[in-house]
Amino acid sequence: MIASAPYYHIVGKEIDVFEHAWLNKIPVLLKGPTGTGKSRFIEYMAYKLDKKLLTISCHEETSATDLIGRFIIKGAETIWLDGPLTNAVKEGYIIYLDEIAEARPDVIVSIHSLTDHRRELFIDKLGETFKAHKDFMLVASFNPGYQRGFKELKPSTRQRFIAMSFNYPDAKVEAEILMNESNVTEDIAKKLVAIGSKIRNLTELGLTETVSTRLLVDAGKLIHSGLPKRLSVKVAVVEPLTDDLQVLQALNDLTDLMI
Ligand code: ADP
Repeated sequence: MIASAPYYHIVGKEIDVFEHAWLNKIPVLLKGPTGTGKSRFIEYMAYKLDKKLLTISCHEETSATDLIGRFIIKGAETIWLDGPLTNAVKEGYIIYLDEIAEARPDVIVSIHSLTDHRRELFIDKLGETFKAHKDFMLVASFNPGYQRGFKELKPSTRQRFIAMSFNYPDAKVEAEILMNESNVTEDIAKKLVAIGSKIRNLTELGLTETVSTRLLVDAGKLIHSGLPKRLSVKVAVVEPLTDDLQVLQALNDLTDLMI
């Protein structure tokens, strides 16, 4: 368990919703662009509910075997090693499948029986079915970046979860998050937030992903530790967004004027 509560700034009704999902053991899907507080929220909820959290960052190679477990050879023996999902099912942990749509399709298949009334996990390699511990809960995140090359989640999978949208917080909340997370002054926080919202509105730049709260927090941390402000914004906010030289130049010019 983490010693002190992770800092999480409430944005809406997400805590109430999650607590009721927890009471009813309904799987939860957190939707939204990267860096909008989804992981922080689930860390906070696990702390609040006093439950152990296992986080799996899914990528295109993540398979059901990675989650469920595998046989390994130890000396002359072959032994079975539970994966994190099996562990969570048996011990009653919260498992967070971050970016679930990125994982291989067999991952989605493997969680099906856990996401309905059965609440059980079938392990074909063992020929066994495990009933989930009463505290087991499944949470996943998904980045709905339609038409931008992100993978989709099938409607039949989505309908196994209740879902909440996460987005960039409003200016006041985002400034508070920046002050808390990076210890910058209110003035700097407001300027960083203004830069964030300005770039987010520049849809004509065609950026795949725009400025997240995470990037602004990083800029704040660099500024707080003494790196010049413009350089901090350049490396933490502008450079991560694009490699297009003209767009970089335009964004650097713009942000230089704002801080
Ligand atoms: P995601 O999981 O959506 O990609 P994270 O939870 O990792 O995003 O958030 C990225 C960073 O943004 C966090 O480390 C934290 O500094 C900050 N952040 C974003 N939203 C919040 C929030 N509501 N409360 C506290 N910190 C936040």
